[in-house]
Amino acid sequence: MRGLIHIYCGDGKGKTTAALGLALRASGSGYTVILAQFLKSRITSELNVLNKMERVVVLRGEKPGKFTWNLSEEEKTELKRENNRIFEKAISYIEEDKKTLVIFDEIIGAIEKNLIDREVVLDYLKTKPLLAEVVFTGRNPDKELLSLADYVSEIKKVKHPFDRGIKAREGIEC
Ligand code: ATP
Ligand code: MG
Repeated sequence: MRGLIHIYCGDGKGKTTAALGLALRASGSGYTVILAQFLKSRITSELNVLNKMERVVVLRGEKPGKFTWNLSEEEKTELKRENNRIFEKAISYIEEDKKTLVIFDEIIGAIEKNLIDREVVLDYLKTKPLLAEVVFTGRNPDKELLSLADYVSEIKKVKHPFDRGIKAREGIEC
């Protein structure tokens, strides 16, 4: 079965958790799952489970010490190098003849902020191994990314408790 490309985007809650739901389903069907996370600052609780699962690889970038807009040019270059490295490592796990789900969580934000090599990522989408199922998450994908995807699901915020001052709750947001 030919692998397709998914995007979970939009300003509502549920992009990463939708990707994780797909990981669970694919894993249950024998897929190898690779989860590469970009621009993540904190460890989220699903990692406790993923790290115990078979045929699951989790790759995470180092936490930048500050918000990306406060990074110096040098720090940005370093972060971009690190993200490029994670991307390459993630795709190196994909075996041509095996069903693999590769999730690039928040890669859309990394592309938008020029914190990963856009051309490398897009080239990969255009030439990916036939069996690889690929998921991108992030708020605002650009037109070219959207045109390369087979599934695009936009999660729109209608309400979010953060707007009432309720901070991230463990087990639900983190
Ligand atoms: P989740 O990881 O819960 O599926 P997400 O991947 O859709 O959320 P991100 O854009 O990656 O959301 O945001 C990271 C964090 O911000 C998560 O804790 C998420 O629950 C929370 N969040 C998502 N959307 C909103 C929003 N509109 N307002 C406030 N917080 C949000
Ligand atoms: Mg997310």
